[in-house]
Amino acid sequence: MNRIAFLGPPGAGKGTQAEILSRELKIAHLSTGDLLRAAVAAQTPLGEQAKSIMAAGQLVPDPLVLEIVAERLRSLGPSNGFVLDGFPRTLAQAESLDGITPLDHVVAFEIPERVLLERLGARRQCPKCGSVYNLKTLPPREPGRCDRDGTELVLRNDDRPEALRTRLLAYHEQTMPLLAFYDRRGLLRRIDAVGEASTVATRVRAATADRPGPNARPHP
Ligand SMILES: [Zn+2]
Repeated sequence: MNRIAFLGPPGAGKGTQAEILSRELKIAHLSTGDLLRAAVAAQTPLGEQAKSIMAAGQLVPDPLVLEIVAERLRSLGPSNGFVLDGFPRTLAQAESLDGITPLDHVVAFEIPERVLLERLGARRQCPKCGSVYNLKTLPPREPGRCDRDGTELVLRNDDRPEALRTRLLAYHEQTMPLLAFYDRRGLLRRIDAVGEASTVATRVRAATADRPGPNARPHP
């Protein structure tokens, strides 16, 4: 089975790699960021709650995120697997996830902070359709405009310097213990996340190839 989770700071390329891997393995790409933004856009009660928290550059609390992810995992039904992108982010989430599904691989994206800040500062998003661009690595065809709908691209609130510092701090405080947690279980695969997307994709493939974790068991 390919039940995979990606761990790494914002800007490490998890989203791009999850997209590539999910396409290759024909498995679901579950991005908590996308799921949350969809809830915000739809103005659901959950989305409204998440909106004010994200606007302050803070992490959405565990129970909220878990509710969204659990629902999505259940909706998958029998499948080849999934890539969790941006989840779990805390030890509490990892323990809760254990009660929903086992994992086969946990890929940790390793990247220097200097490279991260460079990448994130160049990120732009379409406020209409949510497409993400990067002025350096993935620019839109027409400068400043979305390829899909021509909407003017914006710097997301959580990519602004203040919010970035909060996110990186939160990452180090909350996510780093996860590395130890999954390492103890023999599931952790560390990869070098610096380089071209295709190069990193090769490393991700090698790290997740046919090596079921010790706690792998049939999906309920
Ligand atoms: Zn757009």
